[in-house]
Amino acid sequence: MTQSDYKHGTCAWCGNQEEVFRDNMLCDTCDSDTVYCTVCRSRQHHESKCRHVFQSHGCGEWRGAGFDPIDNEMKAPFHRLLSAMGEDFAVDLKTAIRSGRFFTWTIAPMIGGGGMLELNGMPQRDGRSMLFEWGDALIKLGEGRRAEELHDGYRWIVSLYKRNTTKANRTTLAWIDQWLWPFAGAAS
Ligand SMILES: [Zn+2]
Ligand SMILES: [Zn+2]
Repeated sequence: MTQSDYKHGTCAWCGNQEEVFRDNMLCDTCDSDTVYCTVCRSRQHHESKCRHVFQSHGCGEWRGAGFDPIDNEMKAPFHRLLSAMGEDFAVDLKTAIRSGRFFTWTIAPMIGGGGMLELNGMPQRDGRSMLFEWGDALIKLGEGRRAEELHDGYRWIVSLYKRNTTKANRTTLAWIDQWLWPFAGAAS
């Protein structure tokens, strides 16, 4: 950033009088601590943000359906999550997203561990509701040795919400197909 990117003014987020960026009227701190969510159409702070945005594991770059719904760098982490969860999950996730009813919901206990994770929109399997079963499998992975490498893929699916994230839903459906049939389309 050069000096000409700044001007003296009032930060649009914290209200401090200081040097702010000309384009978004934010001070340096607020520029890195906040992000604009295109789903909510409002700026989010990393300490209390909406579900559509998250910071990647490691480098802390902003990601998610509300930040970049066609973010190709999320494909590899998302595929890693599918590989850890397996084909049945991939197929069910596809059905859930296509139904327009997919979203995750965390039920955290007041004290101690043992939270629950709902995966809404998932189809039944052999007459059984999978609302919590897939969530249990995800929680197990999140508590396991591979938790760190699966973080971004998991946060990506959490950033999807029903039909509010249409673009990211479409991206995710394409990624699922590419994972299910890696050689399809290779000839074309
Ligand atoms: Zn500020
Ligand atoms: Zn949002």
